[in-house]
Amino acid sequence: MQTALFIFVSVLLIGVILFVSNSQRKKKQEKQDVLDLDFSKEWKSILNSKVLFYRNLNKEDKELFERQLLRFLSDKNIEAVDTTIDDTVRLMVASSAVIPTFAFPNFNYPSVRTVLIYPGSFDEDFNTVKHKNHQQFITGMVGNKGLKGTVILSKPDLLAAYNGSRSKHNVGIHEFVHLLDGTDGDIDGVPERLLENSYVGSWLFEIKEEMEAVMNRKSDINPYGLTNNAEFLAVVSEYFFSSPKNFKKKHPDLYKYMVDIFDQEL
Ligand SMILES: [Zn+2]
Repeated sequence: MQTALFIFVSVLLIGVILFVSNSQRKKKQEKQDVLDLDFSKEWKSILNSKVLFYRNLNKEDKELFERQLLRFLSDKNIEAVDTTIDDTVRLMVASSAVIPTFAFPNFNYPSVRTVLIYPGSFDEDFNTVKHKNHQQFITGMVGNKGLKGTVILSKPDLLAAYNGSRSKHNVGIHEFVHLLDGTDGDIDGVPERLLENSYVGSWLFEIKEEMEAVMNRKSDINPYGLTNNAEFLAVVSEYFFSSPKNFKKKHPDLYKYMVDIFDQEL
């Protein structure tokens, strides 16, 4: 009797192990299938028409960029809140994530699970509908407290970042740079993971000098960067990736730091 029970339990156990490993393999295969998908012509043409960064890549790097987009899209949920989303919105979200981390192909924002797309800018209480005494001025946010693992982006502002009308602003890149900055534990404008230790002091000095120029109205950097070092890094990163040539010409020193931080020469 005991032997029969032993055999029964063993068979059951083997069954469970096989089932778990099979479903894990299936999951892995599904993920691989997404990565193996051919990047559609429509998607390529959306990127070519809207994403300057992609347009400037050579054929090989374009393929790398596409694979990184697919990985981001297969890993993260992109959800619409009181609005609709289509492939263009999805591709603009993923491009915003991949552009700053293109030189770090193993990095896929481990802290992010969901990107919420709002119908417009919002206030501190996440209201997008205007009402008395409330201003809707937030266009993007990375989750903290109850929203851990979540990024919020205003759809019209995300799309405007890629329609050629805003040469220095890109809310998507702004928020994903905060997340990259925060991978060392602090969103503080000093991405320690990327900067050699010996650079931190001179980077902080550079920020201080550039902030003074902004304060004295001798700079075309968005004054929102004066808020703190983290916002300064996010704001200059938007400019660096949106208009690299102009940025290099007007801010040669800052440009060198950006090249070091993102490991990309644009
Ligand atoms: Zn910010």
